[in-house]
Amino acid sequence: MTDIRPKQGKSVFIRTYGCQMNVYDSERMAGLLKPLGYSLADAPDAADLVILNTCHIREKAAEKVYSDLGRLKKLKFAREGAGAEMKIAVAGCVAQAEGEEITRRAPVVDMVVGPQAYHRLPELIARAARGKGDVLDTDFAVEEKFDRLAERQAEGPTAFLTIQEGCDKFCTFCVVPYTRGQEVSRNVDAIVAEARSLASQGVREITLLGQNVNAWRSAPPAGVSEEAWGLGELCRHLARIDGLERIRFTTSHPRDMDDGLIAAFAEEEKLMPYLHLPVQAGSDKILKAMNRGHTAEHYLRLIERIRAARPDLAISGDFIVGFPSETNEDFEETLALVEAIGYASAYSFKYSRRPGTPGAAMPKQVAEDEKDDRLARLQALLERQRQAFNSARIGEILPVLFEKTGRMDGQIIGRSPYLQSVHVSAPQSMLGQIAKVKIEGVTPNALAGALLTRDEAAA
Ligand code: SAM
Ligand code: SF4
Repeated sequence: MTDIRPKQGKSVFIRTYGCQMNVYDSERMAGLLKPLGYSLADAPDAADLVILNTCHIREKAAEKVYSDLGRLKKLKFAREGAGAEMKIAVAGCVAQAEGEEITRRAPVVDMVVGPQAYHRLPELIARAARGKGDVLDTDFAVEEKFDRLAERQAEGPTAFLTIQEGCDKFCTFCVVPYTRGQEVSRNVDAIVAEARSLASQGVREITLLGQNVNAWRSAPPAGVSEEAWGLGELCRHLARIDGLERIRFTTSHPRDMDDGLIAAFAEEEKLMPYLHLPVQAGSDKILKAMNRGHTAEHYLRLIERIRAARPDLAISGDFIVGFPSETNEDFEETLALVEAIGYASAYSFKYSRRPGTPGAAMPKQVAEDEKDDRLARLQALLERQRQAFNSARIGEILPVLFEKTGRMDGQIIGRSPYLQSVHVSAPQSMLGQIAKVKIEGVTPNALAGALLTRDEAAA
């Protein structure tokens, strides 16, 4: 019988662009390639296979892929000159959106694989090795992808877990419904099995992922007879897994925040008090043009209800400035909404015109220097709010999950319930554990504190 595996000792370098869902996908691709003899390389220079797991959300992210391909071309030729090989694959949303255009613009690429097809990567690699020309796979079949992935190897005490993919909302600025396909929820039994396996490998915190994670719906697990489940029920169910101490989820859509999920924030201790709930803009005119399906008032009332359920909740969000037809008055309404909410953290972007989306064809595109100006003003306000939220933690005692060593000798770094980085001096044996920390100060990007002694923690 012929051994179809490549010779042992091959290496793969994976570069991940964009969101946490791509981080998750890259991890799963690495897991898929391991049984084929591929170990992870730290740099592309000597890798047999390079995968660029790409993001198409803004123009800059997509163009970066082509400049990286230019650099890889030189490495590939140098390797071939030395009698070795380097195959190059473009995966992710640029692959899905641009397909064959990628190999036309960058003939150095051997494989193009969309986000729902990477479970077929081994076959594509084999085909590329046989010199079958450019190999392209951009089919949509999410369930099949998840069904065919190997068991995951946990790395550290935290892990992402994709439970939902795709989007049916069609915001007029966004490429996701075109690159990731329609909204699909993973089945509850598959999610629980993956979470159990991660917990048995020492994972203490999982972050459930989806483009619209709170649109997740599924039949209940086998033996539980209830109506279809939403994300709130799923979080409560996962909270019963031994060893799993913290649950988070991202990214949510305001239209999908149902009562069950709000109640879970009030009642489920393992659900962390942090919610990323993008609003994008504060002007109803712009929200309508964006096809968001909610108003600023709806968002404000929603946050009020969630805060009533969980008063210490840290709110995070996404904002776009300079969407077509946004006037200075519209932008002022965004600032007013930010003032009214008080964000613990946020991401904000200049509107990027994405080919094929309705926004790209809209009249009254906003000038670039106007976008720059609005972004700077918004970011200054959001940064003040972030610093205020962090400073308000000084003197508090927070449970911190320690994840990694710091740059300073004897320092370790963990996360607070509010997703802030927390630096303390403590032995490395604390990594993977949750311990109480008294917060003593803030740095620009983190909190600093001291571990409570055993007596203090017991008091
Ligand atoms: N589903 C989430 C929601 O509805 O809020 C967002 C997911 S999207 C992948 C992440 C963020 O990218 C969006 O919230 C938005 O702020 C930003 N984004 C998407 N398209 C953009 C564009 N054309 N220009 C600038 N920012 C964009
Ligand atoms: Fe994009 Fe989110 Fe809108 Fe879907 S809901 S189209 S992912 S911004």
